[in-house]
Amino acid sequence: MPTGSNQRKRVLSGMRSTGKLHLGNYVGALQNWVGMQDRYECFFFVADWHALTTDYADTSRVKENSVEVLLDWLAAGLDPERCTMFIQSHVPQHAELHLLFSMITPLGWLERVPTYKDLGTYGFLGYPVLQAADILIYKGDFVPVGEDQVPHVELTREIARRFNGFYKRNGTEVFPEPQPLLTPTPKLPGTDGRKMSKSYGNTIMLTDPEPVVRQKLKTMVTDPARVRRTDRGNPDVCPVGDLHKIFSDRSTLAKVNEGCRSAGIGCIECKGWAANALVNILNPMQERRKKYEENPRLAWDILEAGSTKASDVAGKTMNEVRDAMGISLEYEAPRSPRAAK
Ligand code: SF4
Repeated sequence: MPTGSNQRKRVLSGMRSTGKLHLGNYVGALQNWVGMQDRYECFFFVADWHALTTDYADTSRVKENSVEVLLDWLAAGLDPERCTMFIQSHVPQHAELHLLFSMITPLGWLERVPTYKDLGTYGFLGYPVLQAADILIYKGDFVPVGEDQVPHVELTREIARRFNGFYKRNGTEVFPEPQPLLTPTPKLPGTDGRKMSKSYGNTIMLTDPEPVVRQKLKTMVTDPARVRRTDRGNPDVCPVGDLHKIFSDRSTLAKVNEGCRSAGIGCIECKGWAANALVNILNPMQERRKKYEENPRLAWDILEAGSTKASDVAGKTMNEVRDAMGISLEYEAPRSPRAAK
């Protein structure tokens, strides 16, 4: 069981199978996950079904993209000895629970989800319900999220509450209500100054080799007030300044602050320091990734072992769910046999 007093609390989180990850994915989620492995019992899944809510027309890359995500997880430091990693679709109990939750979730609740108006398919309408199933099937205690995603966890809590209200198992509730675990999600600009995102084409990938990182930094936008080398700037309004705040050490940060505001340094020099900081972070990741790139079967084996472990937990929960709902697989004698009439 997940929440014994002497046991670690359980954390659930997933990432869509979008292929290789970028620095924004790292600072927004992955870095936090790596730090949680020893404090919590962590289940991390590659959400390939969630990817299908938008990428359903061409599924040729979904599987490959799932593996790429896993390779970046391993590169970033997720460790199969310390957390459970798996692919959502390899644990079909998520789909069964989603179906049962869809029976009890009022449409009005889904209309409140911010992305509701964009929906085009039945699958997209139901994706917050699938999310609830993803979390509750493991009886997750915590879901790591940024401030903006707290409403999604609230919907999961409401679905758990509604289920518990309708159905009890031997008089007890099946689902705990998971709590959002607020994690730092610093603003990470892409090379054009907008939020880093694959759809903007402004990313720095975790797999970018050093020369590519340096080249991307060279083209990165800066404080527009610094047109000439002699113009003073402000790192607080410069995307490169934002990178320094996240990745650079204190002394570099102090040099940037002082040098930019006094025009004592040039942007090229400043970008070089930012590139150094990024390369320092990315190099060890790329080293770790090599082992799995050379032998992707190793990564697949990790996923299979993780899916087996996840299926065990999910299977137990589904037995409880079916039991509570009165649709268990166990034989039960009819309450009013015809013969008695
Ligand atoms: S010196 Fe650095 S922080 Fe200042 S504008 Fe140039 S790149 Fe940005």
